[in-house]
Amino acid sequence: MEAIKTDVLIVGAGPVGLFAAFEAGVIGLSCHIVDGLGRVGGQCIELYSDKPIYDIPAIPSCTARELVDRLMEQIRPFDVPIYLGERVQLVEQREDHRWTVRTEKGVTFDAAAILIAAGNGAFVPQRLQVPEAAELEDKAVHYSVARLADFTGREVLVAGGGDSALDWALALKDVAKRLTLVHRRNGFSAAVNSVAAMKRAVEAGEMDFVVGMIDSLDAPDGALRSVRIKHVDCTTDIAADKLVALYGLVADLGSIAQWNLDVRGGRIEVDTSNYESSRPGIFAVGDIANYPNKQKLILSGFHEASLALRKAYTYAYPGKKRVHVHSSYDAKLAERVQASAEH
Ligand SMILES: Cc1cc2nc3c(=O)[nH]c(=O)nc-3n(C[C@H](O)[C@H](O)[C@H](O)COP(=O)(O)OP(=O)(O)OC[C@H]3O[C@@H](n4cnc5c(N)ncnc54)[C@H](O)[C@@H]3O)c2cc1C
Repeated sequence: MEAIKTDVLIVGAGPVGLFAAFEAGVIGLSCHIVDGLGRVGGQCIELYSDKPIYDIPAIPSCTARELVDRLMEQIRPFDVPIYLGERVQLVEQREDHRWTVRTEKGVTFDAAAILIAAGNGAFVPQRLQVPEAAELEDKAVHYSVARLADFTGREVLVAGGGDSALDWALALKDVAKRLTLVHRRNGFSAAVNSVAAMKRAVEAGEMDFVVGMIDSLDAPDGALRSVRIKHVDCTTDIAADKLVALYGLVADLGSIAQWNLDVRGGRIEVDTSNYESSRPGIFAVGDIANYPNKQKLILSGFHEASLALRKAYTYAYPGKKRVHVHSSYDAKLAERVQASAEH
């Protein structure tokens, strides 16, 4: 597959990566964004989408989801390509000093600079801690639901007590032969409405709810037959040929840790004059950046991205002088914004 050429490759479509794409456009840099998740928004969407944020300048209050929607609207004039479900893996610097970056699925970028806005690292599902689970992954053991149809007529066990476990249990009960929700306690960290809907469905006999923890999986010939549940003083076996474990996400710096950057405590050390890492041409902004007195705040990340991209420009266009124009006087930007609003 031919490498995709870009001035800047932005790793991470959290709030900081999204704003960086806007700044890149304003400065005159082309950019592409990659994110390991299937949707944009980073922590704002994964961890607190409906919670209000009060400390974004000039927005007295908006939910985290609204902030991400506004950022997406802000970058619309630049038609930034966003590659979702793509975790960056390898990085190599070529003789001409440009970077080749490859994702786990083999998409390759050729970039003058890299801006890492990877938060705490890629979010990966918290996996089941039973030995049989690894071999059954993606066949009978799942950590997300890609297509409801894969569960039609199956005996499904959903494990977890958060929003995603309850939402998927409620959706899957309509297609599954039998649906059992298993959670370690009779209390949930999910929306009140979802908990009420689940309890109604249990009372109506549309699904089962069991308090306990997964102890082991019975899959003698590679096909899941049942799941052993440990209760306070006994165990039970529940027939199941599909298990969906939704225990939440954990952050993992993953392959970025192997990129020969100065990494301390899981974060990338940067020079605060331009947020460049120890490898010239690779920048780190947002929660993943580390420097004295770093605050993990969205507004700090916006500032960091803005400075980093000004230095990135010198790698994309060496020797070319960039004239600073305030956005309020930027005729090209005004035209783009207007054209995008009219579409
Ligand atoms: C509950 C909660 C409430 C908060 N409230 C506030 C608040 O009120 N105000 C405030 O300013 N801040 C708040 N924060 C902090 C704020 O959300 C973070 O500072 C912000 O999300 C950091 O943005 P980011 O873009 O740097 O990283 P993230 O939002 O973490 O996004 C990083 C993205 O990078 C992707 N990624 C990581 N590694 C890779 C890889 N190898 N390949 C591809 N993609 C990758 C991830 O999938 C993720 O989407 C809150 C945080 C939490 C958890």
